[in-house]
Amino acid sequence: MIVVLKPNLSKKDETAVLKEIKNLGYKPHIMRGVERTVIGAIGDERKNHTLEALIAWPQVERVMPVQKRYKLVSREAHKGNSTINVRGTVVGGKKFQVMAGPCSVEDEKQLLTTAHAVKAAGATILRGGAFKPRTSPYEFQGLGEKGLKLLAKARKETGLPVITELLSQDHAELVAEYADILQIGARNAQNFQLLIAAAKTGKPVLLKRGLSMKIEEWLLAGEYVLANENANLMFCERGIRTFETYTRNTLDLSTIPIIKNESHCPIVIDPSQGAGRADLVSAMCKGAVAMGADALLIEVHPNPAVAWSDGAQQVTLEGFAKLMEELKPFIAAAGRE
Ligand code: PEP
Ligand code: MN
Repeated sequence: MIVVLKPNLSKKDETAVLKEIKNLGYKPHIMRGVERTVIGAIGDERKNHTLEALIAWPQVERVMPVQKRYKLVSREAHKGNSTINVRGTVVGGKKFQVMAGPCSVEDEKQLLTTAHAVKAAGATILRGGAFKPRTSPYEFQGLGEKGLKLLAKARKETGLPVITELLSQDHAELVAEYADILQIGARNAQNFQLLIAAAKTGKPVLLKRGLSMKIEEWLLAGEYVLANENANLMFCERGIRTFETYTRNTLDLSTIPIIKNESHCPIVIDPSQGAGRADLVSAMCKGAVAMGADALLIEVHPNPAVAWSDGAQQVTLEGFAKLMEELKPFIAAAGRE
């Protein structure tokens, strides 16, 4: 921590601050400038009392951290990029991965038709919500365990690993029994007990960015997964709330280079929740691939017009196949396979 003192302090006032820094377990180093005195306080903030409270002292002008608040998700904690092996499908490696499937699992025919079609088009992981975080309690809440069983059936038929949302701690074991990746949704991105429960299942975790979550908060939420002995974390940008109304959310593609800079964990882009409009999905995907994303999470439905959730943003089976073709040169240009 760096502690900046107010100008023209008496020796007595300065000594009192130095004494307090020592009391709190830090070693103070004084740097005297022409007008200001700055103290570098050396010590491990994880073990010691935080020095942030010094801002309440009348002698102190500013207290600034030197270290980042997240550790295990940071680049310093791990050499190179983390790769996550999901039943042999590796996220974060050379091969670009596409997770695709319906917003909600609705029935066997809908899911199996979609699963076979997305696989044929080149998707490598099947998505589908069985527990749905709906804004209104009067909207379809998902098929629950029946939906999980259908996902398992689709995995068996297609060989595609499955990602599905974990909505509640109460369901952690149940969902982990069926899922290959646990999705933590935007609404639960800072539900820390849920993140711990997800981490403890040992399954890979995909952490969506919260509706109005700062990147630092997102990284810190991810820290909960790694701090609970689960190294298999991927971040997923799905758009944030802004004043804009042309799109459902504002998909923040700047998170790709930022997460890549800050963290060794893979970054996945969800253009479906991000734009909320099927007609924008293709362009968003191309941008995400070009910017270095590791994977996409795309909503696909055989007939979006009758979907039980998120109809406006789901692409058709034909639309998805076309999109996958169009992505090929972008994937190659990004140095991926
Ligand atoms: C979803 O993937 O269908 C979903 C509900 O996502 P989010 O949590 O990003 O809104
Ligand atoms: Mn959805």
